[in-house]
Amino acid sequence: MNLLELKSVTKAFGGIMACRDVSFATKQGQIMGLIGPNGAGKTTMFNLITGVYAPTSGSILFEGQELVGRGPDGIVAQGVARTFQNIRLFRNLSVLDNVCIAVDKHVDYSFAAALLRLPSILKREQEIRDLALEYLTEVGLADKANVRADSLPYGLQRKLEIARALALKPKLLLLDEPAAGMNPEESLDLAKLIRRIHQRYNLTILLIEHHMDVVMELCDTIFVLNFGLKLAEGTAQDIQSNPDVLRAYLGEG
Ligand code: ATP
Repeated sequence: MNLLELKSVTKAFGGIMACRDVSFATKQGQIMGLIGPNGAGKTTMFNLITGVYAPTSGSILFEGQELVGRGPDGIVAQGVARTFQNIRLFRNLSVLDNVCIAVDKHVDYSFAAALLRLPSILKREQEIRDLALEYLTEVGLADKANVRADSLPYGLQRKLEIARALALKPKLLLLDEPAAGMNPEESLDLAKLIRRIHQRYNLTILLIEHHMDVVMELCDTIFVLNFGLKLAEGTAQDIQSNPDVLRAYLGEG
């Protein structure tokens, strides 16, 4: 079954066509790579799926339901979470609090619910912290729980973003260049982490990544964008031997 389906999605910023008539589908449980040269439209695709931008035309279905017009909050509630190419953490909060905020999204804040849970409010706070710590443990950051988020090295901040996204309990996780700035050893370590959370949380993942070893290691299918247009789609093997991809993306041929 398709979890996510894009149908003829186009996004224009004035005269710039960031995405042109893009269609693809991601099946439940897949890890799909989204690759292409700088400016190809990859992050724009994520911004369209998560409701940051509305498409100029086209349709984005999640579990068969239209996402266009829902707005970022509604789309998170529907089960879509993401990380960002330019890391966006609550910089002056602790590592743990950054994740607590996402866990807390699931708390019912209605007045009636607040009255009902008044006696257990402290207990709930502890539960949120315990849950947040579990996600931090998952990404290997439990021992950094109490330091300020912006004191973490860049690579660990990216892992923290992943923990925060996981805490939203998504069905679909969008990862925007999670290995950016990492050396080959760190990026393969990250690939292992992504593989682990994919299995553990039964996720479907859409991955934008320039580290080709990470893409080839993880992705069942790969979608290649170039100048906002679909250039190719296929398995890692198909893509690696596709002459159009080699020319446009790898600068070969
Ligand atoms: P990179 O690999 O460098 O991150 P990308 O494939 O993610 O690139 P996008 O960031 O999606 O590419 O940009 C696609 C095109 O759309 C670029 O020409 C970019 O300048 C343009 N663009 C993206 N967002 C906006 C915006 N908010 N306003 C105007 N133009 C935009």
